[in-house]
Amino acid sequence: MIKAVFFDIDDTLYDTSGFARLARKAAINVMIDAGLPLSSDEAYKLLKEIIKEKGSNYDKHFNILTRRVFGEEKPLLIALGMITYHNVKFALLRLFPKTPSTLIYLKSKGYHLGVISDGITIKQWEKLIRLGLHHFFDEVVTSEEAGVAKPDERIFQLALNRMGCQAKKSIMIGNKFNKDIVGALNIGMSAILVNSELTPDEKEYLEENNIELNVVSNIGDIIEFL
Ligand SMILES: [Mg+2]
Repeated sequence: MIKAVFFDIDDTLYDTSGFARLARKAAINVMIDAGLPLSSDEAYKLLKEIIKEKGSNYDKHFNILTRRVFGEEKPLLIALGMITYHNVKFALLRLFPKTPSTLIYLKSKGYHLGVISDGITIKQWEKLIRLGLHHFFDEVVTSEEAGVAKPDERIFQLALNRMGCQAKKSIMIGNKFNKDIVGALNIGMSAILVNSELTPDEKEYLEENNIELNVVSNIGDIIEFL
């Protein structure tokens, strides 16, 4: 009997991939208007390379961008880029349509709800607050707190300890097969993959390990299994 339901945040509760691109493009265009000597395409390509190198949770992408272009940091351009990125991102922040009703349903059924997320604790809380979701969750556990990222079992264990729940009575809902699903299964939790299709390699992994994984394209569909 499942008692606790844990969620990933990005691309599980809300659509992050779509708006991140728009926010980055807007930031770059403002920097170009203020003197960044690149075309929009060139600057976007360079920013994407930096994000790939440093990871999306690194908070100095624009610093590095100006350093690579000018040989030194340009504080005004960095500030313009950061402010525009955040303003556009938060203006576009939207839940998946079925997220609120799904969380309300799970609460009404008596489940304890938690978050297990790679990222910086304050930033993840900020997203939940801006999305109006923070009241739903008893615990939010991040890679920053755990000192390791998903799929390392220590982050899942920390979340279970904080929730006071056993792995076999818990389920993880997430959009990344390796991080969310394999991580949860390895520690003995159940899991549902959302907003993602299984690759041939992932299907093979499941077959080899004799795992039947539920996959849904809409977060609203998880309630069939809970
Ligand atoms: Mg995710």
